[in-house]
Amino acid sequence: MGTINCSVQACFYNVNEICGAHILNIGGSDALLTESTCCETFLKQSKYSNLADQDVEPGNTDVIFCSVNTCAYHEKNHCTLPEIEVGSLRDAETYTDTDCLSFERE
Ligand code: SF4
Repeated sequence: MGTINCSVQACFYNVNEICGAHILNIGGSDALLTESTCCETFLKQSKYSNLADQDVEPGNTDVIFCSVNTCAYHEKNHCTLPEIEVGSLRDAETYTDTDCLSFERE
């Protein structure tokens, strides 16, 4: 599938602003605002640097699971967009600090 652009620099899976996670889980059921969505796949880089032997290849995302049932692109717990953008309005400490910037309210 398409590339997941991501500006969350603190994430283990972020390689030059492209996501390297195979499966993305976007959360935030009943969200009315972008800030109420999040990327549940986020792993704080500084806490998981001991996973360094795990291969993280940017652009390897196979599927986006999404529970944001209020989004125009949501269908059967998946995202129908070929690519999305993930970001954070503040320094991300936990996954709740991240947002799906492609969210569009239905
Ligand atoms: S664009 Fe909408 S459906 Fe796609 S991952 Fe973001 S919130 Fe979920």
